[in-house]
Amino acid sequence: MRYLILSDIHSNKEAFTAVLSRVKRKRWDRVIFLGDLVGYAAHPNQVVDQLRQLRPLVAIRGNHDKVCSGIEGGEFFNPPAREAALWTQRKLTRGNLRWLRELPRGPKLVDNTFGIAHGTPIDEDAYVFTEIDALNVFRLTGYEICFFGHTHYPVIYVLTPDAMTTVLTSGTTFRLELKPGARYLVNPGSVGQPRDGRPLAAYAIYDSDTRVLTIHRAAYRIAETQRAILEAGLPRPLAARLAIGR
Ligand code: ZN
Repeated sequence: MRYLILSDIHSNKEAFTAVLSRVKRKRWDRVIFLGDLVGYAAHPNQVVDQLRQLRPLVAIRGNHDKVCSGIEGGEFFNPPAREAALWTQRKLTRGNLRWLRELPRGPKLVDNTFGIAHGTPIDEDAYVFTEIDALNVFRLTGYEICFFGHTHYPVIYVLTPDAMTTVLTSGTTFRLELKPGARYLVNPGSVGQPRDGRPLAAYAIYDSDTRVLTIHRAAYRIAETQRAILEAGLPRPLAARLAIGR
């Protein structure tokens, strides 16, 4: 089975479209979405429509999906994120608002093959930034392979009986064969707001038959996304950060 793994699209229609056109001719059997479909950029309805059309789809909610659909108030968001969330809530159609509200909470086990979570399988809103964070997730959960998002930083944590390793991805196609006997925590990076200093949309493909994981980076029309953010009157830093991938 080949899985297309997407996370943190954040209403960036240009980035999402670029990723979908990249994978159009590739075979994938199922789309996995790790949360944060909306919030930050200016095309919430378009990205919800785009994701809803992909089938079969397994999707879970992110913290921005909760605030943008009114499940939570966003009191702990920074001011630009909160402003964007409230703007998004006003723009979403009733149908899309309801669809977002009904997105399930992670974690989920997919095809008895791997786990998925937005932040961590223990707490959907918690971040995995360090090896200590990753080690805690390994200790407190049983997944051999678990995909997560939320940090917008593509990274793979590998736990073997001897060591814990952090694998940083590089290039526009990064390939890793997953070995039996090791455990993996994988962040495919963010489609719509990458924060690893590379302003390219990120996504992953995992082939569960060959156990090959690839993390891809795709260029997209950043200036278009920025223009839409500014025209919508959303906070300027949300446009500026896309150019530097931070
Ligand atoms: Zn996010």
